[in-house]
Amino acid sequence: MDVFGLVGNPVEHSVSPPMHEAAYEELDMDARYVTFEPTEERLGLAIEGASALGVRGLNVTIPFKESVLPLVDPDPLAERIGAVNTVDFDGEPTGHNTDAAGVTRAFEYHDVDLSGTAVVVGAGGAGRAAAFALADAGVSVRVANRTVPRAEALAEEVPGADAHGLDALGELLADADLLVNATSVGMESDETPVPADALHGDLAVLDAVYAPLETRLLREAAAAGARTIDGAWMLLFQGVEAFELWTDRTAPVEAMNRALRAAL
Ligand code: NAP
Repeated sequence: MDVFGLVGNPVEHSVSPPMHEAAYEELDMDARYVTFEPTEERLGLAIEGASALGVRGLNVTIPFKESVLPLVDPDPLAERIGAVNTVDFDGEPTGHNTDAAGVTRAFEYHDVDLSGTAVVVGAGGAGRAAAFALADAGVSVRVANRTVPRAEALAEEVPGADAHGLDALGELLADADLLVNATSVGMESDETPVPADALHGDLAVLDAVYAPLETRLLREAAAAGARTIDGAWMLLFQGVEAFELWTDRTAPVEAMNRALRAAL
């Protein structure tokens, strides 16, 4: 039996187990996906132990996405983002960041062209993943963040990107094609980081927030005629990308999506 899993704290309410196990069932794989909550001090031991025990792959979530980086051999994208959310134990443990593909594959799945200009709101982990992923796909990236120096630090690392405060969103969005909310604003609350009057019908809007699925941002974007993509799509495609990396098989996207949405 193949073992995959998730390392984080807390992981109790994670929807990754049902999402991945739906893939194993669909493809008739003898595999399990389990969750682990090591302490920060024992994270290194946990990675070594998983490797020694023949665990095939681990996802990594809060609060370990950055601290796991020096414990694995990160690929160049994970290194640039500065965070690992997927460890592959095929040989020495390698680190990857599939949140990046979560963003681009969510857009692509909805037939949104990865071209033109994207405004990424947020410069934390999700914002960094979105900015590098979109820039690598050929999109011009404009980063807006509450804490402007954090946006500036990110924009300096992302080719062609520039940095702004949230007060520039109206102006930035006027000629943008894509918008990603990579802040936590809207999570379990009816708030939005983007003024409704800045939204328009030529935008495709992805919200990384997935609780609730219909955030105020997505509701207002839909009212403005924009295409909307909820945070479960990003969550789905980071899982799909991890599954494909670990198994070299094409993930059963529809089965994983059904299980994920049933669990959310
Ligand atoms: P993070 O590293 O802590 O970054 C948080 C970001 O939100 C920062 O840019 C922060 O701005 C901004 N922010 C927080 N409170 C704010 C407020 N009141 N007003 C304006 N900006 C505010 O968190 P993260 O890991 O990037 O996660 C961000 C969100 O994305 C979370 O809701 C998370 O659940 C979601 N996420 C979703 C997926 C998915 O697969 N769908 C994957 C990863 C993350 P400052 O820099 O100014 O503090």
